[in-house]
Amino acid sequence: MADGVLRICSLYPDVMNIYADRGNLLVLERRAAWRDIEVQVTPAGFGDRIDPDAHDLFYLGGGQDRDQALCARDLVDTKRDALAAAAGRGALVLGICGGFQLLGHVYELGDEEIPGLGLVDLRTVRSDDDRLIGNVAIEVDLDGEGPRTLAGFENHGGRTHLGAGEQPLGRVLRGHGNDGRSGREGVRRDGVIGTYLHGPLLPKNTWFADWLIARATGLALSPLDDRMEAAAHASARRAAGV
Ligand code: GLN
Repeated sequence: MADGVLRICSLYPDVMNIYADRGNLLVLERRAAWRDIEVQVTPAGFGDRIDPDAHDLFYLGGGQDRDQALCARDLVDTKRDALAAAAGRGALVLGICGGFQLLGHVYELGDEEIPGLGLVDLRTVRSDDDRLIGNVAIEVDLDGEGPRTLAGFENHGGRTHLGAGEQPLGRVLRGHGNDGRSGREGVRRDGVIGTYLHGPLLPKNTWFADWLIARATGLALSPLDDRMEAAAHASARRAAGV
């Protein structure tokens, strides 16, 4: 008998999966299963309706501009209301890079406007300047329990601007962050979290995977033998220079 259940909805897993972002789901699955938590992963693709109450964590990975454009209309037409309802009841919604951009109002690509979910107040503008690429480290304080580090890799042409009332996920220690200037990285409003960090993110930062699992299930997680994971985290930090 499992100690609990982690119910994940994976949005467009075949399309929004740049830099092997699906690895984030594998880490969540494994680290939950190792604690005897049953994991249910439900894919949701084009045209699929989603039930806001049927999942604890909604996941949207990164994608190229054209993949985002493909998904955006469907997201808005068939999934926005459910995701807004899920976010409203405190469920986790995690967006990575292209997925992060789609959490906001719009992604402006020249004359084209790719609509977003509007779950958080942000907009992204595609720049003709150099892409923001490289190893990145940010400092986050998720529950006011003190700063921790997330390390990863970013590669984006879009510059993301947070609205006045919105908070970033973290402060840039190394790398470019949302716009290369503000020192802000990602967004966090309650359970809605966006970040530019690939890597994938969670294999390099398993402490954050555990934070997500604990928050999604309400369970206190037993420790694991994390020697390999700690080495992966240290290596990602070193690559970013922290
Ligand atoms: N297409 C987006 C950009 O370049 C996001 C890219 C990504 O997900 N890596 O800004």
